[in-house]
Amino acid sequence: MEKAVIIGAGISGKLAARVLSDHFQEVIILERDSETHGPYPRKGAPQGEHIHALLFAGANGLEELFPGITERFNVSGAVKINSTQDIAWFHHGVWKLRYEGDYTTILQTRPHLEWHIEQYIKSIPNVSIQYIQNVQNFLYNEIENRITGVEIINGSDSIRTINADLIVDASGVRSLSSRWLNKRDVHIPEEKVKIDLSYYTKTLQLPDNQNRDWSIKLVYPTPPFEKIGGGISKVEGNRYLVTFMGYHNEINEKEILKSDNGFIEIAKKLPRLDIYQELKDATALSSTSTFRVPNITWRRFDKVNNIPNGLLMIGDTICRIDPFFGQGMSIAILEALELKKLLVNQKHTNQKMIETFHQQAVKIISPIWNMVITEDFRYPDTIGKKPAGLSIQQWYAKKIFLLSSENKEIYNSFIKVMHLLRPTTTLMHPRIIKSVLKRTFTNNR
Ligand SMILES: Cc1cc2nc3c(=O)[nH]c(=O)nc-3n(C[C@H](O)[C@H](O)[C@H](O)COP(=O)(O)OP(=O)(O)OC[C@H]3O[C@@H](n4cnc5c(N)ncnc54)[C@H](O)[C@@H]3O)c2cc1C
Repeated sequence: MEKAVIIGAGISGKLAARVLSDHFQEVIILERDSETHGPYPRKGAPQGEHIHALLFAGANGLEELFPGITERFNVSGAVKINSTQDIAWFHHGVWKLRYEGDYTTILQTRPHLEWHIEQYIKSIPNVSIQYIQNVQNFLYNEIENRITGVEIINGSDSIRTINADLIVDASGVRSLSSRWLNKRDVHIPEEKVKIDLSYYTKTLQLPDNQNRDWSIKLVYPTPPFEKIGGGISKVEGNRYLVTFMGYHNEINEKEILKSDNGFIEIAKKLPRLDIYQELKDATALSSTSTFRVPNITWRRFDKVNNIPNGLLMIGDTICRIDPFFGQGMSIAILEALELKKLLVNQKHTNQKMIETFHQQAVKIISPIWNMVITEDFRYPDTIGKKPAGLSIQQWYAKKIFLLSSENKEIYNSFIKVMHLLRPTTTLMHPRIIKSVLKRTFTNNR
């Protein structure tokens, strides 16, 4: 195949480029933002200023696609931790167990992660990234019902077009294709859940403390009455990112944005004062960044059979998940691996492969979506289509969360599921069910 064009140089766009570069003569990424000359936040990916955890499945997949990248992260200052020893996590009213387990996690800022991926992409000879290129329209062949290229406005406001054999839409949650398809009366069914989540993040310097025995500390709220959570994560440069998250607009924005002190004071509203204790003598190194997620959205491109040929969707363009659980980038990575597999085993025409990809993406997203909304619906203010068997799922999940503070075997299984290494059914192993029932009959929580 000759030419592929990718809209958006976010993580999904870069991942898609890596995969397509093995099969297309030329791959062009078109990005609206200007080039960043270092691991800095940028306008087109404002969520990058907030804590971004990369789950095991995502980290493994990234290493498979970009061999050696984990080492590059480490060499340039990312913080490698043991995933059960170095995380202090208060969840559903209990602290998770802490012990030296089999997994490691790399803590770093999202711009640091993306910067390294970008350097790798730039070293692939048949991939180019063109910046300040705002893709505003598709070129469409009505007779063949095929997208044949894109129309772009560049920095000088002039319009140009590029033809391609495949167009990948990696433009994220405000995706160009869903707007374009809507205008042409191709309606993409959407699953939408209203959570009104807001994020506030600052970079801070914490005072030295010999007794600090964690690298990331998370204090999550217990629904339905607690709505504010917080996290501190060590990142490259010996700095800490501090994020507060509030469901259903619970955080008073005026208060948190008022001053550095106003930000730190929010930590007093968390279910535990541990984060406040860490922050009260900290020095702010940045202003406060804000991000709102009013809804999470899953666009069911897989359910529509008149999508024009030659157009493939990936990443947040398909699904923006509740960021609280840190899964979005890993979903994009798993999708990219699926695309790689399909291209390697390509037995079908190009279009059949695209449709298969959209269906395979459902298999990746569906269990994660279910797991996440099961938690979101613990708040009565959450609006959307509830999954079947919600209350039993919530009851069972809560038991698993509580047992994760007492039973190492169950916490290990939970970690594997949470990090997308094992299916959720892992938590239905007869031994785990037995522990859940035993806990139910011996303890009222
Ligand atoms: C507050 C917050 C916290 C999060 N925390 C985590 C976490 O801890 N762990 C995790 O794994 N995930 C997390 N996520 C999710 C993660 O950020 C996303 O899943 C991921 O960024 C999706 O990447 P993407 O490339 O699909 O989309 P995006 O990152 O949105 O990238 C889209 C790109 O397309 C460009 N673009 C858009 N329109 C056009 C156009 N018309 N022409 C050209 N370019 C265009 C944009 O400039 C941008 O560069 C979080 C999300 C949020 C909101």
